[in-house]
Amino acid sequence: MPSVSAIEALRRLRDGNRRFFGDARDRQQLASQTRRQEVAIAQEPFAIILGCSDSRVPAEIIFDQGLGDLFVIRVAGNVVAPSGIGGVEFAAARFGVRPVMVLGHSKCSAISATLEELGRPSEKQSRNLRSIVDRIRPSVETLLDTDLRNNPEELLHQSVRAHIRASVDHLRHGSDVLENLIQTDGLIVVGAEYSLETGVVDFITGVPEGALA
Ligand SMILES: [Zn+2]
Repeated sequence: MPSVSAIEALRRLRDGNRRFFGDARDRQQLASQTRRQEVAIAQEPFAIILGCSDSRVPAEIIFDQGLGDLFVIRVAGNVVAPSGIGGVEFAAARFGVRPVMVLGHSKCSAISATLEELGRPSEKQSRNLRSIVDRIRPSVETLLDTDLRNNPEELLHQSVRAHIRASVDHLRHGSDVLENLIQTDGLIVVGAEYSLETGVVDFITGVPEGALA
């Protein structure tokens, strides 16, 4: 059994984020030499985070966590690719980590690049970059068929959220290992959005009713 339940872990993340945006962080303790020596022997992270590579969204800082606390996978646009799913499977199975969080953020440039590409396809994009855009495209392209296309700011905002929800769905159903842990062993996958402007993380999907009350 995991040493920290999914719900307890989500509370820790929420509380840590409150310390961060409330400017009450305690970095000294979180990265102390003592802690470094403890985690050198074994790690016991309590949450898995699949987040964006954006320089303004480092998971440990925005959740006020230290060495050994979070198992973090970062990739531009927090896309769900096979290597990312493998990382999540590994941490969930090996370390018994129970909540998995897809962490998107406001004004994500990978999402806006995808929207631009959908509006005006370019041939110059590298194959590697295209593999990111192609993983975001299915989450957002239907929004371009709505009136949102006339409101770029709102379109981006809704696209970020749609992509978080789609990524959560993909993680839940794109892996037999994770699907089994969800059904039988308390794994949960949640989606959250970080605001660059306020520092607040908004839990937007997957949190059981009343769990964070
Ligand atoms: Zn981003």
